[in-house]
Amino acid sequence: MFKGVPTLANLNLRFLKGNSRIALLLPRGKATATSLDLEDANANPNNTPNTNKINVDVYSEEDLLKRAKFGHTGKQVQQKISSEKKLRTPPLLNLVFANRKLSFYDTSSGPKPCEENAKLNQRRNYSIRPHREQEQRNAEDVLFDMFASEETGLISMGKFLAGLKTTGIRRTDPRVRELMDNLKKVHKLNNYETGSSAETQHLNRETFKAVVSPNIVLIAKAFRQQFVIPDFSSFTKDIEEIYANCKANTSGKLADYIPQLARYSPNLWGVSVCTVDGQRFSIGDVDEPFTLQSCSKPLTYAIALEKLGPKVVHSFVGQEPSGRNFNELVLDQNKKPHNPMINAGAILTCSLMNALVKPDMTSAEIFDYTMSWFKRLSGGEYISFNNAVFLSEREAADRNYALGFYMRENKCFPKRTNLKEVMDYYFQCCSMETNCEAMSVIAASLANGGICPTTEEKVFRPEVIRDVLSIMHSCGTYDYSGQFAFKVGLPAKTGVSGGMMLVIPNVMGIFAWSPPLDTLGNTVRGLQFCDELVSRFNFHRYDNLKHLSNKKDPRKHRYETKGLSIVNLLFSAASGDVTALRRHRLSGMDITLADYDGRTALHLAASEGHLECVKFLLEQCHVPHNPKDRWGNLPVDEAENFCHSDVVEYLKSWAEKSKDAPQECFPEAVTTTTEADEELPTNTTTSVSHSGNTSPIPSESGFRSPSPLSSEAESTASVASVDKTKPGL
Ligand code: GLU
Repeated sequence: MFKGVPTLANLNLRFLKGNSRIALLLPRGKATATSLDLEDANANPNNTPNTNKINVDVYSEEDLLKRAKFGHTGKQVQQKISSEKKLRTPPLLNLVFANRKLSFYDTSSGPKPCEENAKLNQRRNYSIRPHREQEQRNAEDVLFDMFASEETGLISMGKFLAGLKTTGIRRTDPRVRELMDNLKKVHKLNNYETGSSAETQHLNRETFKAVVSPNIVLIAKAFRQQFVIPDFSSFTKDIEEIYANCKANTSGKLADYIPQLARYSPNLWGVSVCTVDGQRFSIGDVDEPFTLQSCSKPLTYAIALEKLGPKVVHSFVGQEPSGRNFNELVLDQNKKPHNPMINAGAILTCSLMNALVKPDMTSAEIFDYTMSWFKRLSGGEYISFNNAVFLSEREAADRNYALGFYMRENKCFPKRTNLKEVMDYYFQCCSMETNCEAMSVIAASLANGGICPTTEEKVFRPEVIRDVLSIMHSCGTYDYSGQFAFKVGLPAKTGVSGGMMLVIPNVMGIFAWSPPLDTLGNTVRGLQFCDELVSRFNFHRYDNLKHLSNKKDPRKHRYETKGLSIVNLLFSAASGDVTALRRHRLSGMDITLADYDGRTALHLAASEGHLECVKFLLEQCHVPHNPKDRWGNLPVDEAENFCHSDVVEYLKSWAEKSKDAPQECFPEAVTTTTEADEELPTNTTTSVSHSGNTSPIPSESGFRSPSPLSSEAESTASVASVDKTKPGL
């Protein structure tokens, strides 16, 4: 009878027969019967409970990978594995479930070797319940065990923080402030034993738990890879590559309408990334200060929207791309500036701030007020003001003044607008100083519906952000906006100082900065960066997330997907479902995949006595006939153990003939069918090119199947050829 862990209640563990031990690689939070379409464990009325204890190691694949990565597989684990190998029964069930290591008791009739039980073909079901003590292990303990040294029993905080960094969480993240403060306190209590750095301390379990516990929710999420980009370090490798490609691009010219912009080195190039979960990555000149310029436009527009609502704001300014230069002396047919991203529209937005949002504030107060919004959006990172740029902007502003007067003539401004103050305010917004780091957090706040990912402060309402992003999408890159929307398909805003604020809604914000501009005023390297980004990742708004396979989706969990595939494959083999196996094969899946214990589809098909599956796997999929699981068992051993004499005979004969079969004389192309293939439509034939020998065992239909000795590469090639000719499959 099932007790505890309800999501596993319906798990049909029938392929845990005999000495099988299987790692079910279930995704976090998805270990439900529904999601995996598993059968009901209680379907077998003959279940008779016993009290044999089964140790159940519950790992996530990430956990295992991390253990490997951080060198903590440990002697104990090795010893455990070898002792299990000796015992072989009862089966040790290895479930990936929420990163927790649990023990379960077998409450069913346990698996028995062939001689002891003639009815071994019957499916066996297990009910499981968690071992209470182990279940109570909390996240802090798990983390400690993951990182602690077996020799000293202490955890190196340096290693721990480095591990945290690979997930994208920095030591300076406000969400781990308590942890860092606690570390300093412990350092002080220990009389600064480790010298000047609190981060190089080695802590025991209790101290570690006390230090991390205030921030454990975030930390556990990080190590469970539950952020929007689960494999952050591999994502950042791509960013590094794209960064390097763009660095080589030396085209473009610096803006020179004011001396401060003309003085920048054209080699400056920085990229900062911040995800909606606050995962950070930066490369290049990311601390170099520059002025916001036009990148301030979406931000002041957002404040106006937040305070006045879209109705009021858009009674003064349009939403259409102008199709004209960013500072063109032109209004739309309603005598309004075209949109808030061009100069006329941004000056108009400034007038709304001045006359409607804060009519009672002095210019100085509005400046502070605006800066405080920018700061909140950036999670308190570097936002300052460059007075030299401000003064230069004001000096070189004939066109902007012309725009102001032209709009005043056309009665564009709200009543009580003081044009001089408005113009100064506009120049001040353009002259706010920042860097890539801070701007990536601002971009991430926009990606995150107005909530700053690092401080978790709700700065803007989501509706405001939706409007801002819509306008950025259609009007954010000057006269290139149409092409940018087409090619990159993401909201962005560029500025004349070389900034490119890119928003991937619900995923991340990226800020790329490099001063050389193209003829339309966009940063050359920034544009190339965006192009390369969307050609690698399926970030374009209209990329199909399901079917487009030539791009990476960093939102998905690499190993989670792989783990699920293995589970599906093994379940298909264990249940004798040849149709499902064929589907896996036609979708290009590697049929030789094994679970954590090295058990393959062939092991499971053999142990369950599914001769058709065994034939299909060998004859059609060309899987090796002799893979060993972690106990050294071959598929034929499994078949023998469970008295499947037909399978034993077939496998032995295959092995025998494989041994004898010559390597040459393999036909150029073989059209193969087996009984298993009879379900395929008549026009579905698998054309396979091989250079090995023919099958030692002719299939029942009389066709000669490819050699079991054919290489994996050939087998992959055959699958690829099927895929090409049968895209619908
Ligand atoms: N301060 C510049 C102007 O108003 C901003 C231009 C820009 O970044 O597009 O002319």
